[in-house]
Amino acid sequence: MNYKELFQSEDGNVEQRQKFSAQIQKILQAMDDLKNPNQTILGESAEKSPAFYQHLMETAQVEEKGQALDNVVDELIQLLDGHPYHTHNYVTNVLPMASIPGLLGMLTNMLINGNNLWDVYGPAAAESEVKVISMMSKLVGYDETKSFGYTTWGGQGAVFSGLRLAIAKQFPNAKEEGVPNNLYCFASENAHYSLLKSIEAVGIGSNHLVRVKACADHSMDLEDLNMQMRAVIRQGGIPVYVVATTGTTDSFGIDDVAGVKAITTALEKEFTLKPIHIHADSALGGFYSFFNDYDFDTNPLDFEAPVTAALLQIRERMQHIHLADSLCFDFQKLGQTPYLTSLFLVKDGSSLGLLDLEDFDTPYVGNRGYGSYHTGYTLECSRMGSSIAIYAALRAFGKENYQALLANYVRVNLQFREQLAAQVPAVEVVNPLNIGPVTAIRYYGNNTTWAQEVAGQATAAQIEAVNATNSAWFELLGAQREDVFFGDTTRVCTVLAQDTKQFIPVAAAKLFTISPYTEVTHIPHFIEVLQQTIAQLEVQHEVHA
Ligand SMILES: *Cc1c(COP(=O)(O)O)cnc(C)c1O
Repeated sequence: MNYKELFQSEDGNVEQRQKFSAQIQKILQAMDDLKNPNQTILGESAEKSPAFYQHLMETAQVEEKGQALDNVVDELIQLLDGHPYHTHNYVTNVLPMASIPGLLGMLTNMLINGNNLWDVYGPAAAESEVKVISMMSKLVGYDETKSFGYTTWGGQGAVFSGLRLAIAKQFPNAKEEGVPNNLYCFASENAHYSLLKSIEAVGIGSNHLVRVKACADHSMDLEDLNMQMRAVIRQGGIPVYVVATTGTTDSFGIDDVAGVKAITTALEKEFTLKPIHIHADSALGGFYSFFNDYDFDTNPLDFEAPVTAALLQIRERMQHIHLADSLCFDFQKLGQTPYLTSLFLVKDGSSLGLLDLEDFDTPYVGNRGYGSYHTGYTLECSRMGSSIAIYAALRAFGKENYQALLANYVRVNLQFREQLAAQVPAVEVVNPLNIGPVTAIRYYGNNTTWAQEVAGQATAAQIEAVNATNSAWFELLGAQREDVFFGDTTRVCTVLAQDTKQFIPVAAAKLFTISPYTEVTHIPHFIEVLQQTIAQLEVQHEVHA
């Protein structure tokens, strides 16, 4: 065995390259053979039971001799079989198909295997990172000469990084001394659970996460935010961090960042507080900033009137995210690049200095006469150069392709809602005021209605009964997911029960458009599947519509 054969060539010889590219070709070919545009998986599915994983655990081991590369690639190809694939019926959640420029960027990065920790080790990634930070800063309206950022571990990592900054800005010594025990963070009840995990991890404690009520449009209720922040301050608490979600994951509710900023500014003044850090969790929705400077009057991409109206409605809220101190773009979501390609942006880049390590603590990187880009402020040490994939996607798509793609998600959702209302009366849209890539739908049969639930007129028992029926519906939708892969959520929002005055989670199924191949023409089949599963549900439950 010659282990050198397992590597790319040292000298660029043709044979070694051809062997490598033949294996890649083989994988691509096998994948294409497994594709079927009318199902949401590659090849054949197999149910993965707990016993399946038990068997893997018992049998897997490192063997004495390595396998021939050909056999290894055959095994890789077997992994593709039954894997979900983002065909036009793949409408489950924000799980994108990785675009070709994204893949090529990632591949380039993998071939050179640079380390984004330091430009001496990863110059390509450092260069791309600086470029994409500037590109996205300009897009949202940050001053690119002052802003900064880095790629990190998901939207989750961005929420966490924002919190680290929030604490460091008010308590620069907290790094050494630990965090005070009276800090508080605020987010909408519809925010992603990223903040919950972050608060636990930094030691603030999840009891200090204040969940703000949401309005009927699923955005944060600013009156409640104001009230809750005042209550915390009156009791001696210090507000450090407000997360404004601009595009909630289940319903595309967009928090009013300008409104949040007005509240924190007023409170800072009234109570002489240090600046409260606002993070716009734009992981999902931030991409609609591509319409910030779209000329809706001349409408160069010829969007239909309803689509234009919807995009304008999104822009109304999204254009203010630059008021936040930090924000995020999950390129592995609407940016259509491979995992993980999340970009964390900070309005005042110099504040990252508060998180930086001392030279003494980083003996083998940075602080040399050579190299001038060392990311000592990130939580990661070694970092993948995911900015290269982001850069490639931004270059290849340009604003126009993103605009066309993102507008099509809106178009499909608008049409879907129209056809649903006409043809599936037992189901209602529970995010009717929000338009974007997602529609959350809830089965009511002829019982309660969404209008009653959202107005606080349904009893706890009624809401819970509807939830139970929807859970049964999710099972039926899940069972046919190789045809149309819908999503579902056990808590798209909460509603107030009329009798108990308690907030109760609302379960809903979801249509989340994320495949570039999903078009308006596919909607009738979505509707058909909904009707079929509802018919099954009604037989099962003997609820006759
Ligand atoms: C997806 C999402 C996150 C988490 O992002 P990951 O990349 O999965 O870590 C956080 N916030 C929002 C609003 C999201 O949509």
